[in-house]
Amino acid sequence: MSLLWLAACGWFRSGPPQDTWPDPEPVTSPADSQVKEDTGPIELTGSTLILVSVDGFSQAYWESADMPVLKGWAEQGTRAEALIPVYPTKTFPNHYSQVTGLYPSHHGIVDNSFRDPVSGEYFDMQTLDPKWWLGEPIWITAERQDVNTATCFWPGSEVSFDGDRPRYYLPYDGSMSGRERVDQVLEWLDLPDDKRPRLITLYFSDVDSAGHSYGPGAHAVYQELRAVDGHLSLLEQGLRERGILDEVDLMVVSDHGMQSFSRDRVELLDDHLDLATVEVYSWAQHTTLSAIAPATTEQVLEALSGLEHARCHAKADTPEHLHYGDSERIPEIVCLPDDGWVLSSHSYFDNSTVYSSGGTHGWDPAYPAMHGVFVARGPHIQQGRVHPAFDQVQLYNLMASILELTPQSNDGDPSEVSDMLVSE
Ligand code: AMP
Ligand code: ZN
Ligand code: ZN
Repeated sequence: MSLLWLAACGWFRSGPPQDTWPDPEPVTSPADSQVKEDTGPIELTGSTLILVSVDGFSQAYWESADMPVLKGWAEQGTRAEALIPVYPTKTFPNHYSQVTGLYPSHHGIVDNSFRDPVSGEYFDMQTLDPKWWLGEPIWITAERQDVNTATCFWPGSEVSFDGDRPRYYLPYDGSMSGRERVDQVLEWLDLPDDKRPRLITLYFSDVDSAGHSYGPGAHAVYQELRAVDGHLSLLEQGLRERGILDEVDLMVVSDHGMQSFSRDRVELLDDHLDLATVEVYSWAQHTTLSAIAPATTEQVLEALSGLEHARCHAKADTPEHLHYGDSERIPEIVCLPDDGWVLSSHSYFDNSTVYSSGGTHGWDPAYPAMHGVFVARGPHIQQGRVHPAFDQVQLYNLMASILELTPQSNDGDPSEVSDMLVSE
């Protein structure tokens, strides 16, 4: 197993923690925002939904977060006790489940980056080849039912589905400021009726990045949450100026939570088996591997049964709540480390400082630290409700109901969330 291979598996992607976290974008109060001269009331035709993702916004941050705007939306609408992610609790599998209503084994994006065990080909967060992206995201369902859509970023939003795409979309640009993203959304709403999108996505990544660098609960995380609230404030103000604040449904979600690393929570695979007998596809909090013949899956599982802080399963026997066995893209063996634990190797761990600070996500979605948030407000959403925790795969049906679209068949159950909708 080479260092290159570890790099391909994402070991080095987040890099060492930064010494100082850059100041978040200044929080802008509505009074500071530029009121455009030509902005006037807009007459909306049909329901309009803005779906906002705050990457890595753990439900565990909610109580302490200084987010008056988002907390106001929760009071005016519905929030969930938690939004339960899909496994693995990483960005691409989760965002794509949110918009397809499918578990990763059905929508095909089984990790942020992975090697397909059958074809040997690699997928990563830049891969736009349609063959990887199964199922139908909500913007395609909408476009195919003559509803205009626009995406200011979302995993999968740049992919062509048999030639269909969001009417407006942008190539992912992590350097675009939050203010520019909100301005883009408002610009789309200013389009004439026949061109205006009725489903718009908006994505923010800085809360996740701060969590990786400093771990959950760090001051930098709460600063970034405050900055996101500033962006939501600009959005709210822009909608108010256009006279449509109470006509647009706003839905804020996150893809997963965050857990801290510790060098005291590392178990080494090569204390239990000879690494030459296995091919490791991914390490750490979501470890997958397969046996290299003549070693067999059974022998490898037997050796791994000695792990104290992880349970390894043949993929067909992964716990049911993970819904993670049913894809050729998943390697033969899936190991689930305990909350906050990672699997590593002597060669990687012993002579480095890895896992000494910061945090990540990817663990079993049953762990509360992995839970995300859900807040919605608008004409279709019940007011003043706190809904029990629910699974991300329910969001597709929820959005389809709001937009009056016929959904594709999916893994969600509309009855799980229909009570948060205002009945006709
Ligand atoms: P994760 O490592 O799972 O927390 O992924 C978060 C990172 O995914 C972000 O910081 C971005 O760098 C990246 N990302 C998010 N959305 C996209 C996208 N639509 N296209 C490419 N990269 C993205
Ligand atoms: Zn994420
Ligand atoms: Zn992340």
